[in-house]
Amino acid sequence: MDLKTQKMYEAFFALEDLREILRQTSPDHRFNDEQQKDFDGVLDRINSIIDEIRSNKGNYNLKYISKNIEIRDKEECFINIGPIQAGGRLTNEARKAVIAYGDGYSVCDQCLSPFRLDYLKKPPVGEFCEEVAGFLGMDVARVVRGARNGFQIVTNALLDKGDIALVSSAAHYSVCLAIESVGAIWKEIPLNESNVVTEIETAEKIEAVKEKEGVLPKLIAISHFDYLFANEHDVQGIAKVCKEYEIPFLYNGAYTVGIMPVNGKKIGADFVVGSGHKSMASPAPSGILATTDEFKDTVFSTTALQGDITKRKFGVKETYLLGCTVMGAPLIGMMASFPTVKERVKNWDEEVKKSNFFIDELLKIEGSKVVSEMPRKHTLTKVDTTDSFDKIAGTHKKKGYFFTSELKKKGIVGIFPGATREFKLNVYGLSWDKIRYLADSFKDIARKYELDVK
Ligand SMILES: *Cc1c(COP(=O)(O)O)cnc(C)c1O
Repeated sequence: MDLKTQKMYEAFFALEDLREILRQTSPDHRFNDEQQKDFDGVLDRINSIIDEIRSNKGNYNLKYISKNIEIRDKEECFINIGPIQAGGRLTNEARKAVIAYGDGYSVCDQCLSPFRLDYLKKPPVGEFCEEVAGFLGMDVARVVRGARNGFQIVTNALLDKGDIALVSSAAHYSVCLAIESVGAIWKEIPLNESNVVTEIETAEKIEAVKEKEGVLPKLIAISHFDYLFANEHDVQGIAKVCKEYEIPFLYNGAYTVGIMPVNGKKIGADFVVGSGHKSMASPAPSGILATTDEFKDTVFSTTALQGDITKRKFGVKETYLLGCTVMGAPLIGMMASFPTVKERVKNWDEEVKKSNFFIDELLKIEGSKVVSEMPRKHTLTKVDTTDSFDKIAGTHKKKGYFFTSELKKKGIVGIFPGATREFKLNVYGLSWDKIRYLADSFKDIARKYELDVK
Protein backbone atom coordinates (compact mmCIF):
# COMPACT_ATOMS: atom_id res chain seq x y z
CA MET A 1 0.00 0.00 0.00
CA ASP A 2 1.37 3.41 -0.83
CA LEU A 3 1.53 6.10 1.80
CA LYS A 4 -1.28 8.21 0.31
CA THR A 5 -3.71 5.31 0.48
CA GLN A 6 -2.56 4.42 3.99
CA LYS A 7 -3.05 8.00 5.15
CA MET A 8 -6.38 8.27 3.35
CA TYR A 9 -7.59 5.29 5.38
CA GLU A 10 -6.14 6.73 8.58
CA ALA A 11 -7.99 9.98 7.94
CA PHE A 12 -11.22 8.16 7.09
CA PHE A 13 -11.08 6.11 10.24
CA ALA A 14 -10.22 9.16 12.31
CA LEU A 15 -13.33 10.85 10.93
CA GLU A 16 -15.30 7.80 11.99
CA ASP A 17 -13.83 8.23 15.47
CA LEU A 18 -15.21 11.77 15.47
CA ARG A 19 -18.52 10.42 14.28
CA GLU A 20 -18.53 7.95 17.14
CA ILE A 21 -18.21 10.78 19.63
CA LEU A 22 -21.05 12.63 17.89
CA ARG A 23 -23.21 9.53 18.14
CA GLN A 24 -22.39 9.03 21.78
CA THR A 25 -23.23 12.60 22.65
CA SER A 26 -26.38 13.04 20.61
CA PRO A 27 -28.68 14.90 20.52
CA ASP A 28 -26.95 18.07 21.71
CA HIS A 29 -23.27 17.09 21.41
CA ARG A 30 -22.42 18.65 24.72
CA PHE A 31 -19.12 17.00 25.52
CA ASN A 32 -17.83 16.23 28.99
CA ASP A 33 -14.14 16.89 29.61
CA GLU A 34 -13.04 13.49 28.53
CA GLN A 35 -15.11 13.60 25.34
CA GLN A 36 -13.79 17.06 24.55
CA LYS A 37 -10.27 15.78 25.02
CA ASP A 38 -10.96 12.81 22.75
CA PHE A 39 -12.57 15.01 20.14
CA ASP A 40 -9.67 17.49 20.12
CA GLY A 41 -7.24 14.60 20.07
CA VAL A 42 -8.86 13.14 16.96
CA LEU A 43 -8.88 16.56 15.28
CA ASP A 44 -5.13 16.90 15.97
CA ARG A 45 -4.58 13.43 14.59
CA ILE A 46 -6.48 14.33 11.40
CA ASN A 47 -4.39 17.47 11.06
CA SER A 48 -1.16 15.55 11.26
CA ILE A 49 -2.46 12.90 8.84
CA ILE A 50 -3.22 15.66 6.35
CA ASP A 51 0.28 17.06 6.82
CA GLU A 52 1.68 13.60 6.17
CA ILE A 53 -0.36 13.30 2.97
CA ARG A 54 0.91 16.70 1.83
CA SER A 55 4.54 15.91 2.54
CA ASN A 56 4.22 12.26 1.55
CA LYS A 57 6.08 11.28 4.71
CA GLY A 58 4.92 9.20 7.62
CA ASN A 59 4.54 5.84 9.28
CA TYR A 60 2.16 3.04 8.51
CA ASN A 61 -0.04 3.11 11.58
CA LEU A 62 -3.03 1.17 10.35
CA LYS A 63 -3.48 -2.34 9.03
CA TYR A 64 -6.71 -3.65 10.50
CA ILE A 65 -10.29 -2.46 10.71
CA SER A 66 -10.73 -4.56 13.79
CA LYS A 67 -8.90 -7.53 15.24
CA ASN A 68 -7.82 -9.47 12.14
CA ILE A 69 -9.83 -7.81 9.36
CA GLU A 70 -7.38 -6.06 7.05
CA ILE A 71 -8.13 -2.85 5.19
CA ARG A 72 -8.48 -3.42 1.45
CA ASP A 73 -6.49 -1.43 -1.11
CA LYS A 74 -7.03 -3.42 -4.30
CA GLU A 75 -8.81 -0.65 -6.16
CA GLU A 76 -6.67 2.21 -4.83
CA CYS A 77 -3.25 0.68 -5.37
CA PHE A 78 -3.61 -1.79 -8.25
CA ILE A 79 -5.15 -2.40 -11.63
CA ASN A 80 -7.64 -5.11 -10.80
CA ILE A 81 -8.49 -7.42 -13.70
CA GLY A 82 -10.34 -9.96 -11.56
CA PRO A 83 -13.06 -11.59 -13.67
CA ILE A 84 -15.96 -10.96 -11.29
CA GLN A 85 -14.98 -7.64 -9.74
CA ALA A 86 -14.75 -5.10 -12.54
CA GLY A 87 -18.40 -4.15 -13.00
CA GLY A 88 -19.14 -4.07 -9.30
CA ARG A 89 -16.45 -1.56 -8.42
CA LEU A 90 -18.29 1.24 -6.65
CA THR A 91 -18.78 4.71 -8.03
CA ASN A 92 -17.73 7.62 -5.87
CA GLU A 93 -21.42 8.19 -5.06
CA ALA A 94 -21.96 4.58 -4.00
CA ARG A 95 -18.98 4.79 -1.64
CA LYS A 96 -20.56 7.85 -0.03
CA ALA A 97 -23.83 5.93 0.26
CA VAL A 98 -22.01 3.16 2.11
CA ILE A 99 -20.71 5.72 4.60
CA ALA A 100 -24.08 7.37 5.16
CA TYR A 101 -26.44 4.38 5.05
CA GLY A 102 -24.45 1.61 6.71
CA ASP A 103 -26.71 1.34 9.72
CA GLY A 104 -28.99 -1.71 9.63
CA TYR A 105 -32.49 -0.64 8.68
CA SER A 106 -31.37 2.89 7.72
CA VAL A 107 -33.68 3.10 4.70
CA CYS A 108 -36.73 2.55 6.86
CA ASP A 109 -36.76 6.03 8.47
CA GLN A 110 -39.69 7.20 6.40
CA CYS A 111 -41.46 3.96 5.72
CA LEU A 112 -45.18 4.64 5.98
CA SER A 113 -48.21 2.39 5.68
CA PRO A 114 -48.66 0.20 3.66
CA PHE A 115 -45.14 -0.83 4.57
CA ARG A 116 -43.25 -1.97 1.54
CA LEU A 117 -39.78 -1.24 0.24
CA ASP A 118 -40.87 -0.26 -3.27
CA TYR A 119 -43.44 2.21 -1.86
CA LEU A 120 -40.69 4.26 -0.21
CA LYS A 121 -40.58 7.86 -1.41
CA LYS A 122 -37.66 8.93 0.78
CA PRO A 123 -35.19 7.63 -0.16
CA PRO A 124 -36.90 7.27 -3.57
CA VAL A 125 -36.85 3.47 -3.82
CA GLY A 126 -40.18 3.28 -5.66
CA GLU A 127 -39.02 5.72 -8.30
CA PHE A 128 -35.77 3.76 -8.63
CA CYS A 129 -37.64 0.50 -9.26
CA GLU A 130 -39.71 2.19 -11.97
CA GLU A 131 -36.62 3.64 -13.58
CA VAL A 132 -34.88 0.27 -13.55
CA ALA A 133 -37.90 -1.33 -15.27
CA GLY A 134 -37.79 1.35 -17.97
CA PHE A 135 -34.03 1.09 -18.32
CA LEU A 136 -34.40 -2.64 -19.07
CA GLY A 137 -37.43 -2.25 -21.33
CA MET A 138 -39.60 -4.18 -18.90
CA ASP A 139 -42.84 -3.32 -17.07
CA VAL A 140 -41.99 -3.90 -13.40
CA ALA A 141 -38.79 -4.29 -11.40
CA ARG A 142 -37.78 -5.04 -7.86
CA VAL A 143 -34.47 -4.97 -6.05
CA VAL A 144 -33.25 -8.41 -4.97
CA ARG A 145 -30.30 -9.79 -3.01
CA GLY A 146 -28.12 -10.62 -5.99
CA ALA A 147 -28.90 -12.31 -9.30
CA ARG A 148 -29.20 -15.66 -7.53
CA ASN A 149 -32.04 -14.32 -5.40
CA GLY A 150 -33.75 -13.19 -8.62
CA PHE A 151 -33.53 -16.77 -9.95
CA GLN A 152 -34.81 -18.09 -6.65
CA ILE A 153 -37.85 -15.79 -6.68
CA VAL A 154 -38.74 -16.91 -10.21
CA THR A 155 -38.24 -20.63 -9.54
CA ASN A 156 -40.28 -20.34 -6.33
CA ALA A 157 -43.11 -18.71 -8.22
CA LEU A 158 -43.06 -20.86 -11.35
CA LEU A 159 -41.82 -24.33 -10.49
CA ASP A 160 -43.27 -27.22 -8.53
CA LYS A 161 -41.49 -30.29 -7.23
CA GLY A 162 -40.41 -32.49 -10.11
CA ASP A 163 -40.81 -29.83 -12.79
CA ILE A 164 -38.06 -29.54 -15.37
CA ALA A 165 -36.21 -26.32 -16.13
CA LEU A 166 -33.55 -25.89 -18.81
CA VAL A 167 -30.26 -24.10 -18.37
CA SER A 168 -27.20 -23.97 -20.58
CA SER A 169 -24.20 -26.28 -20.20
CA ALA A 170 -22.30 -23.13 -19.24
CA ALA A 171 -24.89 -22.04 -16.66
CA HIS A 172 -23.79 -20.47 -13.40
CA TYR A 173 -24.19 -22.84 -10.46
CA SER A 174 -26.56 -20.46 -8.69
CA VAL A 175 -29.29 -20.81 -11.31
CA CYS A 176 -29.06 -24.61 -11.03
CA LEU A 177 -29.31 -24.38 -7.24
CA ALA A 178 -32.29 -22.03 -7.47
CA ILE A 179 -34.08 -24.71 -9.49
CA GLU A 180 -32.99 -27.52 -7.19
CA SER A 181 -34.00 -25.56 -4.10
CA VAL A 182 -37.68 -25.81 -4.99
CA GLY A 183 -37.46 -29.52 -5.76
CA ALA A 184 -37.42 -29.03 -9.52
CA ILE A 185 -34.87 -30.59 -11.87
CA TRP A 186 -32.41 -28.74 -14.10
CA LYS A 187 -31.31 -30.14 -17.40
CA GLU A 188 -28.65 -28.72 -19.69
CA ILE A 189 -28.86 -27.45 -23.21
CA PRO A 190 -25.58 -28.38 -24.93
CA LEU A 191 -23.24 -25.76 -26.34
CA ASN A 192 -22.64 -25.89 -30.08
CA GLU A 193 -19.17 -26.29 -31.61
CA SER A 194 -18.52 -22.58 -30.98
CA ASN A 195 -19.38 -22.93 -27.26
CA VAL A 196 -22.62 -21.05 -27.78
CA VAL A 197 -26.28 -21.93 -27.18
CA THR A 198 -28.66 -21.04 -30.01
CA GLU A 199 -32.31 -21.61 -30.79
CA ILE A 200 -31.35 -24.89 -32.50
CA GLU A 201 -29.91 -26.60 -29.40
CA THR A 202 -32.73 -25.13 -27.33
CA ALA A 203 -35.50 -26.46 -29.57
CA GLU A 204 -33.79 -29.86 -29.74
CA LYS A 205 -33.53 -30.09 -25.97
CA ILE A 206 -37.16 -29.08 -25.49
CA GLU A 207 -38.18 -31.81 -27.93
CA ALA A 208 -35.90 -34.33 -26.23
CA VAL A 209 -37.43 -33.57 -22.82
CA LYS A 210 -40.94 -33.77 -24.29
CA GLU A 211 -40.12 -37.13 -25.88
CA LYS A 212 -38.47 -38.66 -22.82
CA GLU A 213 -40.49 -37.16 -19.97
CA GLY A 214 -43.79 -36.49 -21.69
CA VAL A 215 -43.84 -32.90 -20.44
CA LEU A 216 -42.43 -29.56 -21.48
CA PRO A 217 -39.87 -27.67 -19.39
CA LYS A 218 -41.54 -25.06 -17.19
CA LEU A 219 -38.75 -22.49 -17.41
CA ILE A 220 -35.71 -21.76 -19.56
CA ALA A 221 -32.93 -19.64 -18.05
CA ILE A 222 -29.96 -18.58 -20.19
CA SER A 223 -27.14 -16.09 -19.61
CA HIS A 224 -26.65 -13.56 -22.37
CA PHE A 225 -22.91 -13.79 -21.69
CA ASP A 226 -21.85 -16.83 -19.67
CA TYR A 227 -19.35 -16.70 -16.81
CA LEU A 228 -17.04 -19.38 -18.27
CA PHE A 229 -16.06 -17.87 -21.63
CA ALA A 230 -18.16 -14.70 -21.73
CA ASN A 231 -19.42 -15.92 -25.09
CA GLU A 232 -22.61 -14.33 -26.38
CA HIS A 233 -25.55 -16.69 -26.52
CA ASP A 234 -28.43 -16.24 -28.91
CA VAL A 235 -30.91 -14.99 -26.32
CA GLN A 236 -33.20 -13.47 -28.93
CA GLY A 237 -33.46 -16.73 -30.86
CA ILE A 238 -33.88 -18.72 -27.65
CA ALA A 239 -36.65 -16.34 -26.51
CA LYS A 240 -38.41 -16.92 -29.83
CA VAL A 241 -38.32 -20.70 -29.34
CA CYS A 242 -39.59 -20.25 -25.79
CA LYS A 243 -42.54 -18.21 -27.12
CA GLU A 244 -43.38 -20.95 -29.63
CA TYR A 245 -43.52 -23.55 -26.88
CA GLU A 246 -45.06 -21.09 -24.38
CA ILE A 247 -42.25 -21.63 -21.92
CA PRO A 248 -41.27 -18.63 -19.76
CA PHE A 249 -37.79 -17.32 -20.58
CA LEU A 250 -35.45 -15.90 -17.97
CA TYR A 251 -32.69 -13.68 -19.35
CA ASN A 252 -29.69 -13.86 -17.05
CA GLY A 253 -27.97 -10.50 -17.28
CA ALA A 254 -25.47 -10.95 -14.45
CA TYR A 255 -22.70 -10.02 -16.90
CA THR A 256 -24.69 -7.50 -18.95
CA VAL A 257 -27.22 -5.42 -16.99
CA GLY A 258 -25.36 -2.31 -15.89
CA ILE A 259 -22.46 -2.50 -18.31
CA MET A 260 -24.13 -2.83 -21.72
CA PRO A 261 -27.55 -1.81 -23.05
CA VAL A 262 -30.22 -4.45 -22.37
CA ASN A 263 -33.80 -4.30 -23.60
CA GLY A 264 -35.72 -7.25 -22.20
CA LYS A 265 -38.84 -6.80 -24.33
CA LYS A 266 -36.84 -6.52 -27.53
CA ILE A 267 -35.04 -9.71 -26.61
CA GLY A 268 -38.35 -11.36 -25.78
CA ALA A 269 -37.56 -12.07 -22.14
CA ASP A 270 -40.24 -12.73 -19.54
CA PHE A 271 -37.74 -12.09 -16.76
CA VAL A 272 -34.56 -10.05 -16.69
CA VAL A 273 -32.18 -10.70 -13.82
CA GLY A 274 -29.21 -8.45 -13.09
CA SER A 275 -26.49 -8.46 -10.46
CA GLY A 276 -25.83 -5.21 -8.60
CA HIS A 277 -22.48 -6.32 -7.23
CA LYS A 278 -21.32 -7.88 -10.49
CA SER A 279 -22.32 -5.26 -13.02
CA MET A 280 -24.14 -2.29 -11.49
CA ALA A 281 -21.35 -0.72 -9.41
CA SER A 282 -23.12 -1.69 -6.21
CA PRO A 283 -22.22 -3.18 -2.85
CA ALA A 284 -23.17 -6.80 -2.20
CA PRO A 285 -25.67 -8.23 -1.94
CA SER A 286 -27.75 -6.46 -4.56
CA GLY A 287 -29.47 -7.20 -7.82
CA ILE A 288 -32.60 -6.63 -9.81
CA LEU A 289 -35.46 -8.73 -11.11
CA ALA A 290 -37.65 -7.26 -13.83
CA THR A 291 -40.66 -8.78 -15.52
CA THR A 292 -43.67 -8.05 -17.71
CA ASP A 293 -47.27 -7.21 -16.88
CA GLU A 294 -48.08 -10.79 -17.84
CA PHE A 295 -45.92 -12.28 -15.09
CA LYS A 296 -45.84 -9.59 -12.42
CA ASP A 297 -48.76 -10.97 -10.43
CA THR A 298 -47.21 -14.43 -10.45
CA VAL A 299 -43.69 -13.56 -9.28
CA PHE A 300 -44.64 -10.57 -7.19
CA SER A 301 -47.79 -12.11 -5.76
CA THR A 302 -48.82 -10.86 -2.34
CA THR A 303 -49.43 -12.91 0.76
CA ALA A 304 -52.84 -14.60 1.04
CA LEU A 305 -52.78 -16.48 4.33
CA GLN A 306 -54.01 -15.45 7.72
CA GLY A 307 -52.97 -16.34 11.27
CA ASP A 308 -55.21 -19.07 12.66
CA ILE A 309 -55.06 -17.61 16.16
CA THR A 310 -54.50 -13.93 15.63
CA LYS A 311 -56.21 -13.59 12.24
CA ARG A 312 -53.24 -11.48 11.20
CA LYS A 313 -52.70 -10.76 7.51
CA PHE A 314 -49.68 -9.18 5.90
CA GLY A 315 -51.48 -7.36 3.13
CA VAL A 316 -49.25 -6.10 0.34
CA LYS A 317 -46.08 -8.01 1.27
CA GLU A 318 -44.75 -9.89 -1.73
CA THR A 319 -44.49 -13.53 -0.76
CA TYR A 320 -41.54 -14.78 -2.82
CA LEU A 321 -39.55 -11.66 -2.00
CA LEU A 322 -40.16 -12.32 1.71
CA GLY A 323 -41.43 -8.76 1.88
CA CYS A 324 -38.59 -6.27 1.85
CA THR A 325 -35.40 -7.35 0.12
CA VAL A 326 -32.29 -5.16 -0.13
CA MET A 327 -31.87 -2.44 2.48
CA GLY A 328 -29.21 -0.12 3.88
CA ALA A 329 -25.89 0.45 2.12
CA PRO A 330 -26.39 -2.11 -0.69
CA LEU A 331 -29.69 -0.54 -1.76
CA ILE A 332 -28.65 3.09 -1.45
CA GLY A 333 -25.32 2.24 -3.08
CA MET A 334 -27.11 0.73 -6.06
CA MET A 335 -29.39 3.75 -6.31
CA ALA A 336 -26.49 6.19 -5.98
CA SER A 337 -24.60 4.48 -8.80
CA PHE A 338 -27.59 4.23 -11.10
CA PRO A 339 -27.25 7.60 -12.89
CA THR A 340 -23.66 6.66 -13.77
CA VAL A 341 -24.69 3.13 -14.73
CA LYS A 342 -27.37 4.45 -17.09
CA GLU A 343 -24.77 6.56 -18.84
CA ARG A 344 -21.94 4.04 -18.87
CA VAL A 345 -23.86 1.37 -20.78
CA LYS A 346 -23.73 3.73 -23.76
CA ASN A 347 -19.95 3.32 -23.81
CA TRP A 348 -20.09 -0.45 -24.20
CA ASP A 349 -18.68 -0.41 -27.76
CA GLU A 350 -15.61 1.44 -26.50
CA GLU A 351 -15.19 -1.05 -23.66
CA VAL A 352 -15.28 -3.91 -26.16
CA LYS A 353 -12.77 -2.08 -28.35
CA LYS A 354 -10.37 -1.84 -25.42
CA SER A 355 -10.94 -5.50 -24.64
CA ASN A 356 -10.04 -6.49 -28.19
CA PHE A 357 -7.02 -4.22 -28.19
CA PHE A 358 -5.68 -5.87 -25.06
CA ILE A 359 -6.39 -9.39 -26.30
CA ASP A 360 -4.72 -8.67 -29.67
CA GLU A 361 -1.64 -7.47 -27.80
CA LEU A 362 -1.67 -10.56 -25.57
CA LEU A 363 -1.84 -12.76 -28.66
CA LYS A 364 1.43 -11.24 -29.85
CA ILE A 365 3.10 -13.27 -27.10
CA GLU A 366 4.24 -16.53 -28.67
CA GLY A 367 2.05 -19.49 -27.69
CA SER A 368 -0.81 -17.46 -26.20
CA LYS A 369 -4.35 -18.43 -27.11
CA VAL A 370 -7.88 -17.28 -26.37
CA VAL A 371 -10.49 -19.81 -25.26
CA SER A 372 -13.41 -17.38 -25.60
CA GLU A 373 -14.99 -16.56 -28.96
CA MET A 374 -13.09 -14.09 -31.15
CA PRO A 375 -13.23 -11.22 -31.78
CA ARG A 376 -14.30 -10.43 -28.24
CA LYS A 377 -17.78 -9.09 -27.67
CA HIS A 378 -17.18 -8.69 -23.94
CA THR A 379 -14.54 -7.39 -21.54
CA LEU A 380 -14.32 -10.74 -19.74
CA THR A 381 -12.11 -13.25 -21.54
CA LYS A 382 -10.72 -16.68 -20.88
CA VAL A 383 -7.17 -17.04 -22.15
CA ASP A 384 -4.91 -20.05 -22.48
CA THR A 385 -1.22 -19.51 -21.85
CA THR A 386 -0.26 -23.18 -21.60
CA ASP A 387 2.23 -22.69 -24.44
CA SER A 388 3.58 -19.38 -23.18
CA PHE A 389 3.63 -18.46 -19.47
CA ASP A 390 3.01 -22.03 -18.29
CA LYS A 391 6.22 -23.18 -19.99
CA ILE A 392 8.12 -20.82 -17.71
CA ALA A 393 6.19 -22.01 -14.65
CA GLY A 394 7.56 -25.49 -15.32
CA THR A 395 11.12 -24.46 -14.48
CA HIS A 396 10.58 -21.42 -12.26
CA LYS A 397 11.18 -21.91 -8.55
CA LYS A 398 7.91 -20.16 -7.77
CA LYS A 399 6.06 -22.46 -10.21
CA GLY A 400 2.83 -20.88 -11.48
CA TYR A 401 3.06 -18.21 -8.81
CA PHE A 402 5.88 -16.54 -10.72
CA PHE A 403 3.31 -15.05 -13.09
CA THR A 404 0.93 -13.52 -10.54
CA SER A 405 3.99 -12.36 -8.64
CA GLU A 406 5.50 -10.62 -11.70
CA LEU A 407 2.13 -9.01 -12.41
CA LYS A 408 1.82 -7.83 -8.83
CA LYS A 409 5.24 -6.17 -9.08
CA LYS A 410 3.74 -4.15 -11.91
CA GLY A 411 0.68 -3.33 -9.83
CA ILE A 412 -1.66 -5.75 -11.58
CA VAL A 413 -3.88 -8.09 -9.56
CA GLY A 414 -6.96 -10.23 -10.07
CA ILE A 415 -5.66 -13.31 -11.88
CA PHE A 416 -6.19 -16.53 -9.96
CA PRO A 417 -3.00 -17.07 -7.90
CA GLY A 418 -0.72 -19.63 -9.51
CA ALA A 419 -2.75 -19.86 -12.75
CA THR A 420 -0.65 -20.02 -15.90
CA ARG A 421 -2.72 -22.30 -18.14
CA GLU A 422 -6.30 -21.15 -18.48
CA PHE A 423 -7.50 -18.12 -16.59
CA LYS A 424 -10.06 -15.37 -16.89
CA LEU A 425 -9.53 -11.65 -16.81
CA ASN A 426 -11.83 -8.67 -17.11
CA VAL A 427 -10.70 -5.27 -18.36
CA TYR A 428 -14.04 -3.50 -17.92
CA GLY A 429 -13.80 0.16 -16.96
CA LEU A 430 -10.06 0.59 -17.46
CA SER A 431 -8.93 3.75 -19.23
CA TRP A 432 -7.00 3.47 -22.50
CA ASP A 433 -3.84 4.40 -20.58
CA LYS A 434 -4.36 1.53 -18.17
CA ILE A 435 -5.19 -0.84 -21.03
CA ARG A 436 -1.93 0.05 -22.79
CA TYR A 437 0.01 -0.27 -19.55
CA LEU A 438 -1.61 -3.67 -18.98
CA ALA A 439 -0.70 -4.89 -22.45
CA ASP A 440 2.88 -3.60 -22.11
CA SER A 441 3.21 -5.30 -18.72
CA PHE A 442 2.17 -8.71 -20.07
CA LYS A 443 4.60 -8.30 -22.96
CA ASP A 444 7.41 -7.13 -20.65
CA ILE A 445 7.01 -10.21 -18.49
CA ALA A 446 7.04 -12.40 -21.60
CA ARG A 447 10.26 -10.78 -22.85
CA LYS A 448 11.90 -11.03 -19.44
CA TYR A 449 11.48 -14.81 -19.68
CA GLU A 450 12.54 -14.90 -23.33
CA LEU A 451 9.21 -15.62 -24.90
CA ASP A 452 8.93 -14.30 -28.42
CA VAL A 453 6.77 -11.17 -28.74
CA LYS A 454 5.68 -10.22 -32.23
C1 LIG B 1 -22.02 -13.93 -11.19
C2 LIG B 1 -23.11 -14.67 -11.86
C3 LIG B 1 -24.27 -15.03 -11.17
C4 LIG B 1 -24.46 -14.77 -9.70
O1 LIG B 1 -24.69 -13.41 -9.45
P1 LIG B 1 -25.00 -12.89 -7.98
O2 LIG B 1 -25.49 -11.51 -8.16
O3 LIG B 1 -23.74 -12.98 -7.18
O4 LIG B 1 -26.05 -13.80 -7.40
C5 LIG B 1 -25.26 -15.68 -11.87
N1 LIG B 1 -25.13 -15.95 -13.17
C6 LIG B 1 -24.04 -15.61 -13.88
C7 LIG B 1 -23.96 -15.92 -15.33
C8 LIG B 1 -23.00 -14.96 -13.25
O5 LIG B 1 -21.90 -14.65 -13.95
